[in-house]
Amino acid sequence: MKDRSSELFERALKVTPGGVSSPVRAFRPNPLFIESANGSKIRDADGNEYIDYCMAYGPMVAGHACEDVINAVKSYLDRGTLFGAPSEPELQLIELISSRVPSAEMVRLACSGAEATMHAIRVARGFTGRDGIVKMNGGYHGAHDSVMAERGEGYRSRPSSEGVPKDAVKNTFIAEYNDIEGLTEVIDAEKPACVIMEPVMGNIGVVPPEKGYLQEVRKITKEAGTVLIFDEVITGFRLTSGGAQELYGVTPDMTTCAKVMGGGLSGSALMGKREIMEKIAPPGKVYVAGTYAGNPISAVAGMAQINYMSKGIRYTELNGRSDALRKSLSDLLEDSKVKGCVNGVGSMMTVYFGIESVTNGSDASKTDRDMFNRMFKHMLDKGIYLAPSALEDWFVSAAHSSEDITATVEAFGSFLKGAVR
Ligand SMILES: *Cc1c(COP(=O)(O)O)cnc(C)c1O
Repeated sequence: MKDRSSELFERALKVTPGGVSSPVRAFRPNPLFIESANGSKIRDADGNEYIDYCMAYGPMVAGHACEDVINAVKSYLDRGTLFGAPSEPELQLIELISSRVPSAEMVRLACSGAEATMHAIRVARGFTGRDGIVKMNGGYHGAHDSVMAERGEGYRSRPSSEGVPKDAVKNTFIAEYNDIEGLTEVIDAEKPACVIMEPVMGNIGVVPPEKGYLQEVRKITKEAGTVLIFDEVITGFRLTSGGAQELYGVTPDMTTCAKVMGGGLSGSALMGKREIMEKIAPPGKVYVAGTYAGNPISAVAGMAQINYMSKGIRYTELNGRSDALRKSLSDLLEDSKVKGCVNGVGSMMTVYFGIESVTNGSDASKTDRDMFNRMFKHMLDKGIYLAPSALEDWFVSAAHSSEDITATVEAFGSFLKGAVR
Protein backbone atom coordinates (compact mmCIF):
# COMPACT_ATOMS: atom_id res chain seq x y z
CA MET A 1 0.00 0.00 0.00
CA LYS A 2 1.18 3.49 -0.80
CA ASP A 3 1.96 5.74 2.09
CA ARG A 4 0.23 9.06 2.41
CA SER A 5 3.35 11.18 1.78
CA SER A 6 3.90 9.54 -1.60
CA GLU A 7 0.23 9.96 -2.49
CA LEU A 8 0.34 13.63 -1.60
CA PHE A 9 3.59 14.02 -3.53
CA GLU A 10 2.05 12.50 -6.65
CA ARG A 11 -0.77 15.03 -6.38
CA ALA A 12 1.69 17.85 -5.81
CA LEU A 13 3.79 16.91 -8.84
CA LYS A 14 0.76 17.50 -11.05
CA VAL A 15 0.21 21.05 -9.88
CA THR A 16 3.48 22.52 -8.65
CA PRO A 17 6.99 22.25 -10.20
CA GLY A 18 8.86 19.33 -8.66
CA GLY A 19 6.06 18.95 -6.12
CA VAL A 20 7.74 21.37 -3.70
CA SER A 21 7.59 25.07 -2.87
CA SER A 22 11.39 25.42 -2.56
CA PRO A 23 13.92 23.22 -4.38
CA VAL A 24 16.01 21.91 -1.49
CA ARG A 25 12.96 20.16 -0.03
CA ALA A 26 12.79 17.64 -2.85
CA PHE A 27 14.30 14.18 -2.36
CA ARG A 28 13.78 10.72 -3.80
CA PRO A 29 11.59 8.82 -3.86
CA ASN A 30 9.44 11.48 -2.24
CA PRO A 31 9.74 14.13 0.44
CA LEU A 32 7.81 13.55 3.65
CA PHE A 33 4.71 15.64 4.07
CA ILE A 34 4.77 16.99 7.60
CA GLU A 35 1.60 16.97 9.61
CA SER A 36 2.83 18.55 12.82
CA ALA A 37 5.92 19.33 14.83
CA ASN A 38 6.67 19.76 18.50
CA GLY A 39 9.93 20.39 20.34
CA SER A 40 12.70 18.42 18.62
CA LYS A 41 10.26 16.15 16.75
CA ILE A 42 8.37 16.26 13.51
CA ARG A 43 5.60 13.89 12.52
CA ASP A 44 4.80 13.00 8.93
CA ALA A 45 1.46 12.38 7.23
CA ASP A 46 1.78 8.66 7.98
CA GLY A 47 2.25 9.22 11.69
CA ASN A 48 6.01 8.51 11.73
CA GLU A 49 7.96 10.61 14.19
CA TYR A 50 11.51 11.87 13.67
CA ILE A 51 14.12 13.77 15.64
CA ASP A 52 14.51 16.84 13.46
CA TYR A 53 17.85 18.46 12.64
CA CYS A 54 16.57 20.33 9.61
CA MET A 55 14.49 22.59 11.86
CA ALA A 56 13.00 24.37 8.87
CA TYR A 57 16.57 25.19 7.73
CA GLY A 58 17.35 27.19 10.81
CA PRO A 59 14.50 29.34 12.15
CA MET A 60 13.30 27.02 14.92
CA VAL A 61 16.06 27.56 17.48
CA ALA A 62 13.67 27.26 20.44
CA GLY A 63 12.21 24.03 19.03
CA HIS A 64 8.98 23.47 17.14
CA ALA A 65 5.75 24.90 18.54
CA CYS A 66 7.57 26.62 21.40
CA GLU A 67 4.82 27.50 23.85
CA ASP A 68 5.93 31.11 24.31
CA VAL A 69 5.85 31.69 20.54
CA ILE A 70 2.51 29.98 19.97
CA ASN A 71 0.91 31.86 22.87
CA ALA A 72 2.27 35.21 21.70
CA VAL A 73 0.77 34.66 18.24
CA LYS A 74 -2.55 33.36 19.59
CA SER A 75 -2.97 36.24 21.98
CA TYR A 76 -2.35 38.81 19.24
CA LEU A 77 -4.52 37.28 16.49
CA ASP A 78 -7.84 38.68 17.71
CA ARG A 79 -6.61 42.20 16.98
CA GLY A 80 -6.09 41.45 13.29
CA THR A 81 -3.13 40.44 11.22
CA LEU A 82 -1.99 43.36 9.10
CA PHE A 83 -2.59 47.11 9.19
CA GLY A 84 -0.29 48.69 6.61
CA ALA A 85 0.56 51.24 9.28
CA PRO A 86 3.05 51.23 12.14
CA SER A 87 2.20 49.09 15.18
CA GLU A 88 3.81 48.71 18.59
CA PRO A 89 5.04 45.09 18.15
CA GLU A 90 7.21 46.08 15.19
CA LEU A 91 8.74 48.91 17.23
CA GLN A 92 9.35 46.58 20.16
CA LEU A 93 11.02 44.04 17.88
CA ILE A 94 13.23 46.74 16.38
CA GLU A 95 14.22 47.96 19.85
CA LEU A 96 14.95 44.39 20.89
CA ILE A 97 17.12 43.79 17.82
CA SER A 98 19.08 47.00 18.27
CA SER A 99 19.67 46.19 21.93
CA ARG A 100 21.19 42.83 20.97
CA VAL A 101 23.02 43.12 17.66
CA PRO A 102 26.20 45.21 18.00
CA SER A 103 26.01 46.75 14.49
CA ALA A 104 22.31 47.66 14.70
CA GLU A 105 22.18 51.41 15.30
CA MET A 106 19.07 51.45 13.11
CA VAL A 107 16.88 48.65 11.81
CA ARG A 108 14.45 48.32 8.90
CA LEU A 109 12.14 45.30 8.87
CA ALA A 110 11.41 43.17 5.81
CA CYS A 111 9.90 39.73 5.23
CA SER A 112 12.43 37.19 4.02
CA GLY A 113 16.17 36.73 4.05
CA ALA A 114 16.37 37.32 0.32
CA GLU A 115 14.52 40.58 0.67
CA ALA A 116 16.78 41.78 3.48
CA THR A 117 19.98 41.10 1.52
CA MET A 118 18.54 42.59 -1.68
CA HIS A 119 17.71 45.76 0.22
CA ALA A 120 21.01 45.87 2.11
CA ILE A 121 22.97 45.64 -1.15
CA ARG A 122 20.92 48.47 -2.63
CA VAL A 123 21.50 50.59 0.47
CA ALA A 124 25.25 49.92 0.31
CA ARG A 125 25.28 50.91 -3.35
CA GLY A 126 23.27 54.04 -2.62
CA PHE A 127 25.52 54.97 0.27
CA THR A 128 28.80 54.54 -1.62
CA GLY A 129 27.65 55.51 -5.10
CA ARG A 130 29.45 52.38 -6.36
CA ASP A 131 28.03 49.35 -8.19
CA GLY A 132 30.35 46.43 -7.46
CA ILE A 133 29.56 43.79 -4.87
CA VAL A 134 31.69 40.93 -3.61
CA LYS A 135 30.29 37.66 -2.35
CA MET A 136 31.98 34.46 -1.25
CA ASN A 137 32.26 31.35 -3.39
CA GLY A 138 29.34 29.20 -2.23
CA GLY A 139 27.80 31.97 -0.14
CA TYR A 140 24.00 32.14 -0.31
CA HIS A 141 22.00 35.32 0.15
CA GLY A 142 18.59 34.33 -1.19
CA ALA A 143 17.28 33.82 -4.70
CA HIS A 144 17.56 37.30 -6.23
CA ASP A 145 19.44 38.19 -9.38
CA SER A 146 22.58 40.03 -8.30
CA VAL A 147 23.62 37.28 -5.88
CA MET A 148 22.63 34.32 -8.09
CA ALA A 149 26.22 34.29 -9.27
CA GLU A 150 28.95 31.69 -9.28
CA ARG A 151 32.66 31.82 -9.94
CA GLY A 152 33.55 32.66 -13.54
CA GLU A 153 36.96 33.80 -14.73
CA GLY A 154 39.25 34.96 -11.93
CA TYR A 155 37.11 36.89 -9.47
CA ARG A 156 34.42 37.55 -12.08
CA SER A 157 31.11 35.73 -11.92
CA ARG A 158 28.46 34.26 -14.15
CA PRO A 159 24.77 33.59 -13.49
CA SER A 160 24.21 30.51 -11.33
CA SER A 161 20.69 30.03 -12.67
CA GLU A 162 18.99 30.19 -16.01
CA GLY A 163 16.86 33.30 -16.24
CA VAL A 164 19.42 35.55 -14.55
CA PRO A 165 20.78 37.99 -17.16
CA LYS A 166 24.57 38.21 -17.52
CA ASP A 167 24.21 41.93 -16.97
CA ALA A 168 22.58 41.35 -13.58
CA VAL A 169 25.79 39.78 -12.27
CA LYS A 170 28.38 41.77 -14.17
CA ASN A 171 29.06 43.81 -11.03
CA THR A 172 29.15 40.76 -8.79
CA PHE A 173 32.59 39.44 -7.89
CA ILE A 174 33.52 36.25 -6.12
CA ALA A 175 36.13 35.72 -3.42
CA GLU A 176 37.05 32.52 -1.63
CA TYR A 177 36.08 32.40 2.05
CA ASN A 178 39.01 32.43 4.50
CA ASP A 179 41.28 33.86 1.78
CA ILE A 180 42.35 37.41 2.62
CA GLU A 181 44.75 37.73 -0.31
CA GLY A 182 42.04 37.01 -2.88
CA LEU A 183 39.64 39.39 -1.22
CA THR A 184 42.27 42.14 -1.07
CA GLU A 185 42.92 41.72 -4.78
CA VAL A 186 39.30 42.15 -5.82
CA ILE A 187 38.72 45.04 -3.43
CA ASP A 188 41.82 46.87 -4.69
CA ALA A 189 40.88 46.32 -8.32
CA GLU A 190 37.14 46.97 -8.19
CA LYS A 191 36.56 49.32 -5.22
CA PRO A 192 33.20 47.62 -4.59
CA ALA A 193 30.19 49.10 -2.80
CA CYS A 194 30.05 46.16 -0.42
CA VAL A 195 31.29 42.78 0.61
CA ILE A 196 28.34 40.60 1.58
CA MET A 197 29.25 37.44 3.45
CA GLU A 198 28.03 34.95 5.99
CA PRO A 199 30.44 35.43 8.93
CA VAL A 200 30.13 31.68 9.49
CA MET A 201 29.40 30.05 6.15
CA GLY A 202 26.20 28.06 6.37
CA ASN A 203 25.16 27.21 2.85
CA ILE A 204 28.15 25.08 1.86
CA GLY A 205 27.63 23.20 5.05
CA VAL A 206 29.10 24.98 8.06
CA VAL A 207 32.51 26.57 7.61
CA PRO A 208 33.84 28.67 10.49
CA PRO A 209 36.16 31.63 10.01
CA GLU A 210 39.85 30.94 10.59
CA LYS A 211 41.43 32.83 13.47
CA GLY A 212 41.73 36.53 12.67
CA TYR A 213 40.01 36.25 9.27
CA LEU A 214 36.92 38.32 10.07
CA GLN A 215 39.06 40.96 11.80
CA GLU A 216 41.17 41.22 8.66
CA VAL A 217 38.08 41.47 6.41
CA ARG A 218 36.84 44.26 8.66
CA LYS A 219 40.14 46.09 8.31
CA ILE A 220 40.50 45.95 4.53
CA THR A 221 36.86 46.84 3.81
CA LYS A 222 37.11 49.83 6.10
CA GLU A 223 40.27 51.03 4.36
CA ALA A 224 38.59 50.74 0.95
CA GLY A 225 35.39 52.55 1.98
CA THR A 226 33.54 49.32 1.17
CA VAL A 227 30.45 48.54 3.24
CA LEU A 228 30.88 45.25 5.08
CA ILE A 229 27.57 43.38 5.26
CA PHE A 230 27.34 40.33 7.50
CA ASP A 231 24.54 38.12 6.28
CA GLU A 232 23.47 36.70 9.63
CA VAL A 233 20.22 35.25 8.31
CA ILE A 234 21.23 31.90 9.86
CA THR A 235 23.63 32.94 12.62
CA GLY A 236 21.64 35.92 13.97
CA PHE A 237 20.02 35.01 17.31
CA ARG A 238 21.31 31.44 16.87
CA LEU A 239 24.98 31.45 17.87
CA THR A 240 24.35 34.01 20.62
CA SER A 241 21.68 36.66 20.94
CA GLY A 242 24.05 39.10 19.22
CA GLY A 243 24.94 36.68 16.43
CA ALA A 244 28.34 35.82 14.97
CA GLN A 245 29.47 39.46 15.21
CA GLU A 246 29.15 39.27 18.98
CA LEU A 247 30.77 35.83 19.15
CA TYR A 248 33.82 36.89 17.11
CA GLY A 249 33.91 40.49 18.25
CA VAL A 250 33.80 41.98 14.74
CA THR A 251 31.25 44.68 13.97
CA PRO A 252 30.20 45.04 10.32
CA ASP A 253 28.69 48.20 8.82
CA MET A 254 25.42 46.42 8.01
CA THR A 255 23.78 43.15 8.99
CA THR A 256 20.90 41.12 7.64
CA CYS A 257 18.86 38.80 9.85
CA ALA A 258 15.91 36.51 9.15
CA LYS A 259 15.18 32.88 10.10
CA VAL A 260 15.31 32.89 13.96
CA MET A 261 14.03 36.47 14.25
CA GLY A 262 10.74 35.46 12.58
CA GLY A 263 9.95 32.84 15.21
CA GLY A 264 8.84 30.49 12.42
CA LEU A 265 6.86 33.16 10.59
CA SER A 266 8.36 35.24 7.83
CA GLY A 267 10.28 38.15 9.20
CA SER A 268 13.64 39.70 8.41
CA ALA A 269 15.62 42.85 8.94
CA LEU A 270 18.48 44.91 7.63
CA MET A 271 20.37 47.03 10.09
CA GLY A 272 23.53 49.02 10.47
CA LYS A 273 25.22 52.32 11.08
CA ARG A 274 22.89 55.28 11.33
CA GLU A 275 24.56 57.24 8.50
CA ILE A 276 24.12 54.26 6.18
CA MET A 277 20.60 53.31 7.26
CA GLU A 278 19.41 56.91 6.88
CA LYS A 279 20.00 56.52 3.14
CA ILE A 280 16.77 54.50 3.17
CA ALA A 281 13.65 56.38 2.02
CA PRO A 282 12.38 58.23 3.94
CA PRO A 283 14.50 60.22 4.85
CA GLY A 284 17.01 59.06 2.19
CA LYS A 285 16.67 58.20 -1.47
CA VAL A 286 17.20 54.45 -1.53
CA TYR A 287 13.84 52.84 -2.12
CA VAL A 288 13.06 49.81 0.05
CA ALA A 289 9.47 48.67 0.64
CA GLY A 290 7.15 45.78 1.49
CA THR A 291 3.43 45.31 2.18
CA TYR A 292 4.09 42.71 4.89
CA ALA A 293 7.23 44.32 6.32
CA GLY A 294 6.96 44.68 10.09
CA ASN A 295 3.67 42.83 10.29
CA PRO A 296 2.67 42.48 13.94
CA ILE A 297 2.22 38.69 13.92
CA SER A 298 5.78 37.99 12.75
CA ALA A 299 6.97 40.64 15.21
CA VAL A 300 5.32 39.06 18.27
CA ALA A 301 6.45 35.58 17.20
CA GLY A 302 10.03 36.72 16.64
CA MET A 303 10.18 38.60 19.93
CA ALA A 304 8.79 35.62 21.81
CA GLN A 305 11.47 33.33 20.37
CA ILE A 306 14.31 35.80 20.98
CA ASN A 307 13.13 36.39 24.55
CA TYR A 308 12.69 32.67 25.17
CA MET A 309 16.26 32.01 24.07
CA SER A 310 17.58 34.88 26.18
CA LYS A 311 16.25 33.42 29.43
CA GLY A 312 18.86 32.06 31.82
CA ILE A 313 21.66 30.15 30.16
CA ARG A 314 19.72 28.72 27.21
CA TYR A 315 22.35 29.60 24.61
CA THR A 316 25.10 28.17 26.79
CA GLU A 317 23.15 24.94 27.27
CA LEU A 318 22.25 24.70 23.59
CA ASN A 319 25.83 25.28 22.49
CA GLY A 320 27.11 22.81 25.08
CA ARG A 321 24.77 20.05 23.94
CA SER A 322 25.61 20.82 20.31
CA ASP A 323 29.35 20.66 21.01
CA ALA A 324 28.82 17.26 22.63
CA LEU A 325 26.93 16.01 19.57
CA ARG A 326 29.57 17.35 17.21
CA LYS A 327 32.38 15.81 19.20
CA SER A 328 30.65 12.42 19.30
CA LEU A 329 30.01 12.45 15.54
CA SER A 330 33.57 13.53 14.92
CA ASP A 331 35.05 10.84 17.20
CA LEU A 332 32.94 8.14 15.55
CA LEU A 333 34.02 9.29 12.12
CA GLU A 334 37.68 9.37 13.13
CA ASP A 335 37.53 5.85 14.59
CA SER A 336 35.82 4.50 11.47
CA LYS A 337 37.24 3.67 8.06
CA VAL A 338 35.12 6.35 6.46
CA LYS A 339 36.93 9.47 5.26
CA GLY A 340 35.32 12.71 6.33
CA CYS A 341 35.16 15.53 8.83
CA VAL A 342 32.68 17.36 11.00
CA ASN A 343 32.56 21.16 10.97
CA GLY A 344 30.51 23.37 13.20
CA VAL A 345 30.02 26.35 15.45
CA GLY A 346 27.53 26.22 18.31
CA SER A 347 24.23 24.71 17.22
CA MET A 348 25.09 24.43 13.52
CA MET A 349 27.17 21.61 12.10
CA THR A 350 27.86 19.56 8.98
CA VAL A 351 29.28 16.10 8.36
CA TYR A 352 31.36 16.05 5.16
CA PHE A 353 32.35 12.77 3.57
CA GLY A 354 35.33 12.08 1.32
CA ILE A 355 37.36 15.10 2.42
CA GLU A 356 39.44 15.68 5.54
CA SER A 357 39.04 19.40 5.99
CA VAL A 358 36.71 22.05 4.59
CA THR A 359 37.70 25.70 4.86
CA ASN A 360 35.95 27.22 1.85
CA GLY A 361 33.47 26.71 -0.99
CA SER A 362 35.93 24.90 -3.26
CA ASP A 363 36.66 22.30 -0.57
CA ALA A 364 32.97 21.88 0.21
CA SER A 365 32.12 21.19 -3.42
CA LYS A 366 34.34 18.07 -3.27
CA THR A 367 32.18 16.38 -0.62
CA ASP A 368 31.02 12.83 -1.41
CA ARG A 369 27.33 13.26 -2.15
CA ASP A 370 26.64 9.57 -2.67
CA MET A 371 27.88 8.81 0.82
CA PHE A 372 25.74 11.65 2.16
CA ASN A 373 22.67 10.25 0.43
CA ARG A 374 23.34 6.85 1.97
CA MET A 375 23.66 8.42 5.40
CA PHE A 376 20.52 10.47 4.88
CA LYS A 377 18.49 7.32 4.10
CA HIS A 378 20.01 5.42 7.01
CA MET A 379 19.28 8.20 9.48
CA LEU A 380 15.74 8.57 8.18
CA ASP A 381 15.19 4.83 8.70
CA LYS A 382 16.43 5.29 12.27
CA GLY A 383 13.97 8.12 12.90
CA ILE A 384 16.31 11.04 12.35
CA TYR A 385 15.41 13.74 9.87
CA LEU A 386 18.28 15.67 8.31
CA ALA A 387 18.08 18.27 5.56
CA PRO A 388 18.18 16.19 2.38
CA SER A 389 21.32 17.73 0.92
CA ALA A 390 25.04 17.23 1.53
CA LEU A 391 25.78 20.94 1.83
CA GLU A 392 23.11 21.87 4.36
CA ASP A 393 23.48 22.21 8.11
CA TRP A 394 22.31 20.18 11.06
CA PHE A 395 20.51 22.57 13.38
CA VAL A 396 20.19 21.73 17.05
CA SER A 397 17.47 23.50 19.04
CA ALA A 398 16.92 24.26 22.71
CA ALA A 399 14.31 21.47 22.64
CA HIS A 400 16.77 18.70 21.69
CA SER A 401 17.33 16.53 24.77
CA SER A 402 20.37 14.49 25.69
CA GLU A 403 18.25 11.39 24.81
CA ASP A 404 17.81 12.84 21.30
CA ILE A 405 21.54 13.38 21.04
CA THR A 406 22.30 9.84 22.24
CA ALA A 407 19.88 8.31 19.74
CA THR A 408 21.43 10.39 16.97
CA VAL A 409 24.98 9.38 17.84
CA GLU A 410 23.91 5.72 17.91
CA ALA A 411 22.27 5.98 14.51
CA PHE A 412 25.34 7.66 13.04
CA GLY A 413 27.57 4.97 14.53
CA SER A 414 25.50 2.21 12.98
CA PHE A 415 25.67 3.98 9.63
CA LEU A 416 29.47 4.15 9.74
CA LYS A 417 29.67 0.43 10.63
CA GLY A 418 27.60 -0.49 7.63
CA ALA A 419 29.20 2.06 5.31
CA VAL A 420 32.41 0.12 4.70
CA ARG A 421 31.85 -3.49 3.81
C1 LIG B 1 18.21 31.27 4.07
C2 LIG B 1 19.20 32.31 3.76
C3 LIG B 1 18.86 33.45 3.01
C4 LIG B 1 17.54 33.59 2.32
O1 LIG B 1 16.50 33.70 3.23
P1 LIG B 1 14.99 33.44 2.69
O2 LIG B 1 14.16 33.81 3.86
O3 LIG B 1 14.95 31.99 2.32
O4 LIG B 1 14.81 34.33 1.53
C5 LIG B 1 19.79 34.46 2.90
N1 LIG B 1 21.00 34.36 3.47
C6 LIG B 1 21.37 33.27 4.17
C7 LIG B 1 22.72 33.23 4.79
C8 LIG B 1 20.49 32.20 4.32
O5 LIG B 1 20.87 31.11 4.96
